[in-house]
Amino acid sequence: MLLAAKWVLPISHKPVENGAIVIEGTKIKDVGTFEEMVNKYPGEEVSDFGKAVILPGFIDLHTHLEYSVFRGVCDDLGYADWKIQLTIKSRTLTESDWMHSAYLGALEAIQSGITTIADITKSGASLTAAKDAGLRGIIYYEVTGMDYAKLPKIMSHMDKDVTNWIDKAKGSNLIIGFAPHSPYTVAPPLFQESTKWARERNLQICTHLAGSKAEYDFVKYGSGQLSNEYWNLVGWNNILWQPTGVSPVKYLEEWGVFDGGNILAVHCVQVDESDIDILKRYNVSIAHCPRCNAKLGMGIAPLSSFLSRGMSVGIGTDSPASNNTTDVFDEMRIGLLIQRGITRSADFTAEDFVYMATLGGAGAVNMQDKIGSLEAGKEADVIVVDMSHSHQVPAGDPYSALVYTANQENIVLTMVAGKVLYKDYGYTNLDEMEILKKSEPIRKKVK
Ligand SMILES: [Zn+2]
Repeated sequence: MLLAAKWVLPISHKPVENGAIVIEGTKIKDVGTFEEMVNKYPGEEVSDFGKAVILPGFIDLHTHLEYSVFRGVCDDLGYADWKIQLTIKSRTLTESDWMHSAYLGALEAIQSGITTIADITKSGASLTAAKDAGLRGIIYYEVTGMDYAKLPKIMSHMDKDVTNWIDKAKGSNLIIGFAPHSPYTVAPPLFQESTKWARERNLQICTHLAGSKAEYDFVKYGSGQLSNEYWNLVGWNNILWQPTGVSPVKYLEEWGVFDGGNILAVHCVQVDESDIDILKRYNVSIAHCPRCNAKLGMGIAPLSSFLSRGMSVGIGTDSPASNNTTDVFDEMRIGLLIQRGITRSADFTAEDFVYMATLGGAGAVNMQDKIGSLEAGKEADVIVVDMSHSHQVPAGDPYSALVYTANQENIVLTMVAGKVLYKDYGYTNLDEMEILKKSEPIRKKVK
């Protein structure tokens, strides 16, 4: 199969004008100019997308597919109020509701050119939906627990469930990871023991970290809405939380959570330079979620401090419960503009953000040898972005066109491991009408 377009963006190399990519089975066979590829592989079936960009599929470093029906339900709230509302409304969902919600998330991801997700799920619905959809990714088993008496039970459940999930993921493009939810929902010994257990099982680890000021105040001072309203809501009002006197990052370091590396931290907004030094020392990767961080009033992550230390950073959309759409173009565009605004400089470029959404994200989850760029031998995770609309023409630079003019609706092809999952607004594995229809009644429940 030979895909051709006005631009091919290998990411690891310079853009190729009038380029083409040859795919054989599940892998990329070759990348070059259209002329070169046609001469070299004369028998290949050609799909020419014209005024379009071919690039590696987006790697969304932070999703919760199962929260998709909460789109627009908890808008215009600060982080703690948002979390409280989301927790209350979540209680109305049944197992099958979570499943339909996750299918809605998978549908949107594919239509948005996302080929790999790093998804945190409690119900496991994301695993089923992502597998059926044909997505690639890491599905992190989420754990929460502050009641010390219940910790042994939580640990034994975890072990059993993860074994089942690993079985279930067989034959798909998914692997199972482990996610202690956050410093305000996971007891210190559980954080310590479970991450040790995860490393012994060779599971990649992900946690929400240093997101909101509410989390920071909870960890350092034991005060604020999370320690009062939220803890009461989830039944932890009788549990003693000792303020640690340190930042969330320092706190996790003291409990040995970073020992052994292999961890992806989501948000990392409430961090100072010494926190970032700690993250760097343990080789912690970062899921940068600029829109969610801004929308929930968490703040702006110090991206230049991460990148100047050579840390692995990728882009995460978070869930529609907080961010409304899983549009990586919006994430790149708004993320870039926010950084330009606060740094009062044009140091960050469109190319930097496309890199973070592809190869940078792959590096953050140790998949850079398989995905993230268009190179011979890599997995054929490929997307095509149409660039023929009036808001995009004329386009001279593909990076600029992608970041400043494109949207999720401009995706015309999404392919994972050489299989087309979405083309010309049609899905290969998912029934769009059915998924949309089933989302409406759930929405009425949570509103
Ligand atoms: Zn999250």
